[in-house]
Amino acid sequence: MFFKKLYFSVILTVFTVFSGSSQDYFLESKEPFNPEIPSPEVFLGYAIGEQHTRHDLIVAYFEKLAEISDRATIEVYGKTHEHRKLVMLSVSSHENLQNLNSLQESHLKFSNPNLSPTNYNEIPIFINLGYGVHGNEPSSSEAAMLVAYTLVASNSTEVLNYLKNAVVFIDPAINPDGRDRHTNWVNQLRANSLVSDPLDAEHNETWPRGRTNHYWFDLNRDWLLAVNPESIGKLNWYHKWYPNVVTDFHEMGTNSTYFFEPMKPIGSENPIMPKENYEDLNSLFAPYFSKALDSVGSFYFTKEAFDGTYPGYGSSYPDLQGGLALLFEQASSRGLIQDTEFEKITFPFTIRNQYVSSFSTLKAAVENKEYLRKYQQNFFKSTQLKFPKNSTVAYEFGDSFDKNRTKYFIDKLLIHKIKVFKNGDKFVVPLNQPQKRMVQTVFETYNKYRDSVFYDASAWSLNNFYNMPSRALKNVTLGEELNDTKDLVQVSKVDKTAYSYILDWDDYNSAAALYFFQSQGIKVASAFKPFTIITTEGLKKFNYGTIMIPVSKQKKSSIEVYEIVKNAQEKFDVPIYAVNSGFSSVGIDLGSNNLKAIKKPKAAILIGEGVNSSEAGEVWHLLDTRIHMPITKIRINSFSRASLEKYNTIVMVSGNYNYLDSLQIGKLKRWVSSGNTLITIAGASNWVIDKKIVKENLTKSPKKDSLVERLPYVDASENNGRERLGGAIFEVDLDVTHPLGFGYRSNILPIYKNNSVFLSPSKNAYSTVAKYASNPHIDGYISNKNLEENLKPSASLIVSSLGQGSVIMFADNPNFRGAWYGTNRLFYNALFLGSEISVPRN
Ligand SMILES: [Zn+2]
Repeated sequence: MFFKKLYFSVILTVFTVFSGSSQDYFLESKEPFNPEIPSPEVFLGYAIGEQHTRHDLIVAYFEKLAEISDRATIEVYGKTHEHRKLVMLSVSSHENLQNLNSLQESHLKFSNPNLSPTNYNEIPIFINLGYGVHGNEPSSSEAAMLVAYTLVASNSTEVLNYLKNAVVFIDPAINPDGRDRHTNWVNQLRANSLVSDPLDAEHNETWPRGRTNHYWFDLNRDWLLAVNPESIGKLNWYHKWYPNVVTDFHEMGTNSTYFFEPMKPIGSENPIMPKENYEDLNSLFAPYFSKALDSVGSFYFTKEAFDGTYPGYGSSYPDLQGGLALLFEQASSRGLIQDTEFEKITFPFTIRNQYVSSFSTLKAAVENKEYLRKYQQNFFKSTQLKFPKNSTVAYEFGDSFDKNRTKYFIDKLLIHKIKVFKNGDKFVVPLNQPQKRMVQTVFETYNKYRDSVFYDASAWSLNNFYNMPSRALKNVTLGEELNDTKDLVQVSKVDKTAYSYILDWDDYNSAAALYFFQSQGIKVASAFKPFTIITTEGLKKFNYGTIMIPVSKQKKSSIEVYEIVKNAQEKFDVPIYAVNSGFSSVGIDLGSNNLKAIKKPKAAILIGEGVNSSEAGEVWHLLDTRIHMPITKIRINSFSRASLEKYNTIVMVSGNYNYLDSLQIGKLKRWVSSGNTLITIAGASNWVIDKKIVKENLTKSPKKDSLVERLPYVDASENNGRERLGGAIFEVDLDVTHPLGFGYRSNILPIYKNNSVFLSPSKNAYSTVAKYASNPHIDGYISNKNLEENLKPSASLIVSSLGQGSVIMFADNPNFRGAWYGTNRLFYNALFLGSEISVPRN
């Protein structure tokens, strides 16, 4: 029976691929259709499932629907890095769309904890069908076109009922840049005689593949971090609508079947998300999905996999906003047709499952309208519950040494509609507010788990990402509410001087200002010791790493230098001071040998097959978007013909560098030895040690007992998963007098670890810049074994000399997901000061 059913559905789909003349395979249950509305097939000139559809055509089709139908309107909610439009098609009955503003107003009353409307059934339910966050999981965006067509053109009783009782917001492609990267790949390699062999190039994209966006970021991690325009646009849209139900359609391995929720239970013991969400709501919806998939003969699984613990997924963030977010995963055909362990899986077959699940979502939402509205209302009401005595009622934060980093942190809070108040120098976030659960998400840390295997990160306390000094308050004075951060950073305008300008290195934006100076041909020096000096604004104390511009030593006139300095200050809002005398009142004078001239970085990064594209993308994104510095992306297979003399800094991230043979490794070593800087991140730090490019070691695990305990076979994957470090936050002890630690005021620094790179502290007393603290756990899951045997004895950041140059080894990724503002500074220091770091003798 099992085989027969599957066989039948597969045969049917193959037939449809070849016939290509009709979309009945998808649409027949929704007849009759308005003939005046073009189907995707009529509009595109090919049937859905016959080839992969380019993003601009998806947008054009949606624009067409909005133009000719009174059931649809379209909105552009953002633009991608590559300037593709992010669109949302709103579909409902003509009457609902005409009254959309007042419906929105009534709908939003349910998410206002101070109001208590009871007209649960009078307002249509708000549903957001989101498709294609991963660009190379192509079935869902094709299904989006069929769903839009069906809703706009079908006059079946079923569809008319949905239109009356729901407003459906269709986002056909959350990640257009990745989508087109994959679409173009498949379309250029597909043949007229379809090739189902999984080894065919059509099914195997080259690096970096289409999953991620322009900078190779996984947008399905970015809902919380809001680093990319795709997520920022979506969040701005989201907080205007608070949909009751949100879908997130994906694809998984070709040999799998289909997945819908419930997922594995939430990993943390005290999840912020209400239990009703993943218990009651999911069990309410699941029968709709199973029934619909059974009816088309599709197989599926639930409960065994995926967890919604991390709040930055498309299938978890809406759960923290009083909605129900739903994850769907379809086995991928990737290209048009592919062999599986059973038979062949076709593109139309995968599209049909997503189409079927889209409509069962609509059915479930409409039939449970009242329940979902009450749920959302209770969700927001529960944020107003009285606090027990002596509990935390607010968080206070702020870093007066780094106003821009503080501002960026506040920007992140505001995008999640967290209320922030300014009270003197400090900022306050009360827990008593509709976004209480987001406040908890940002500030609370966890160490108790019901499960030990996480699908992704188990730590996401954003205040640690930003290294933001903060504390919990038992009572609170709020101060004035911030609506935006426009005027938050006020720097006093720098005076003109003929002697010297001083740039405070403590500010996050100073790295961008420094590169701006260097790119304008200004020579600068970095202070390797602190000093206190009279500026035109009075006596100022400057930290390690302060940047000094000696005016008379420039090739430009003092007026030209002033213009550049003023310009940098206006661009980056950085603290810059003018001084008229080099004599300090404390510490080094401005002519000291401890003010070291620093070189402009000429950077390259190795990329390509085998390299971790996320880590590489994070470096590219940081330099390109935050400090506006070009970086050459060298494919590993071009390394042998690269003239390395053009660069003084090379970055290597985790990856497989087997392509670099001993000849290439020798070339790299010679280049470092002649005075250049190699920065290695995570796995690449292992690699330089393995290849003996540096004389450092990895920590050795204690020898295992020869007697192995017998364990149940079924537990193997759970047991092995337990030792994986999915992503957690630890405290390191940083040497703030080391150039790599410049600009930090405290030796305590939170870092993010999601690997098993454990570096031995160096034998050189001055090389271990950051070591894990004696009690390092801050947030997230780590097994006791990993913590005690591997992490505690190891180092997070070491630097090693090689000839005249140095190798800077990060065990942990300082640029994780573009969101680690707190540790970016370590990387900036490596980039700008690397050439000035010499390792003293023991
Ligand atoms: Zn996916």
